[in-house]
Amino acid sequence: MSTIVQKFGGTSVGSVDQIKLMANRILQEKNKGHDVVVVVSAMGKTTDTLLQLAGEISSNPCNRELDMLLSTGEQVTISLLAMALKQQGAESISLTGRQAGIHTDTVMGNAQIVFIDTERIRSELEKQKIVVVAGFQGVNENGDISTLGRGGSDTTAAALAAYLNADRCDIFTDVDGVYTTDPGIVGSAVKIPSLSYEEMLSLAAMGAGVLHPRAIRYAERHQIPIAVKSSARPGSGTMITNKMSGEKSLPVTGIAFEEKVSRLILSGLSKMEASRKQIISSLSALHIQADIYLQLYDQSIILLVKESDTQNVLCLLNKEKEKIGYTALQQKNGLSKVSVIGSGLSEIKAEMCRIFIHNKNKVKLIGESSICVTALLDRSELHTAVRQLHTGFGLDFTLEKAVV
Ligand code: ASP
Ligand code: MG
Repeated sequence: MSTIVQKFGGTSVGSVDQIKLMANRILQEKNKGHDVVVVVSAMGKTTDTLLQLAGEISSNPCNRELDMLLSTGEQVTISLLAMALKQQGAESISLTGRQAGIHTDTVMGNAQIVFIDTERIRSELEKQKIVVVAGFQGVNENGDISTLGRGGSDTTAAALAAYLNADRCDIFTDVDGVYTTDPGIVGSAVKIPSLSYEEMLSLAAMGAGVLHPRAIRYAERHQIPIAVKSSARPGSGTMITNKMSGEKSLPVTGIAFEEKVSRLILSGLSKMEASRKQIISSLSALHIQADIYLQLYDQSIILLVKESDTQNVLCLLNKEKEKIGYTALQQKNGLSKVSVIGSGLSEIKAEMCRIFIHNKNKVKLIGESSICVTALLDRSELHTAVRQLHTGFGLDFTLEKAVV
């Protein structure tokens, strides 16, 4: 018998009616004879609302209590979905992260899964139950509830699929697959039928919110195919496996962006490489991702971080000022970054500069990493820049033409 993991995002379970509909869909999968494990997010915008409540009490709430609070969102959904499944005649049980055996490290608010003890899940599956697991949460070695970072339910699903040796992991969301860029911003964006883990990881790491980057790493390591599908419309969605997207004539896979970015400039450095290494190791202890650029001409390092991480990063940089060896720190919020992901990055960089010069776009920085070329801009310029790049790199409707 095959095991399928299905994950439903917040918009797919945003109301009781939606939950009933999803229960019906899950039941159809179960009736095909599969063992089914379901992972759900909090309903609709619940996590944002909970964060707002905490913000009304403190501008810097205690991380442990924040995890305790945020984990309640998913708990509401698992119980309602298990009830809906029972109502429709299925055997079902809901499990919190802890009950499902999900053990994490102790980084509060951004924990990583250390291991999953699948015994309870397996024994419930043996009883032919549909097991509904709360996404985005686990338990750490202190016995405290931990959360896996925004969007972390995808990672719960992929990690469970890996530990259960599942045949497939379906991610149901409000779009019908992964697009060349956000179709809400570029109407001519095109759905990509298939992507390799590596391509998807690059898109996700640079801001494509459709999948949590860590979920892709789990799937790749354990060779679990991931399907990103719409929960509202039928269709095959986007398949993510180890096969490349196959559009060899298109060197650009897609355009990803991060809307809320802070730029931090550390200056007065004397040992650039040692400082870079120190910054990387300090950030990775907190699982914080940053783009790091060395400016040799003035002995400074630029960090681009998500605005939601800025406070933690500043705290860390202040604490480690001597170890890192900088003398001054400048911070600027209100920025965005856009990244072009593909192969042949030096040509991509040249083309990106040409497109921006042609459009008289004011760009603050263009940097190249091993997976993409990134430009930093004022937030007010982001959407225009995404459209210009999408058109400039010939992505408008290209894949559809290629498929025809
Ligand atoms: N509910 C959490 C969030 O909104 C986790 C998730 O949806 O994946 O970020
Ligand atoms: Mg998500």
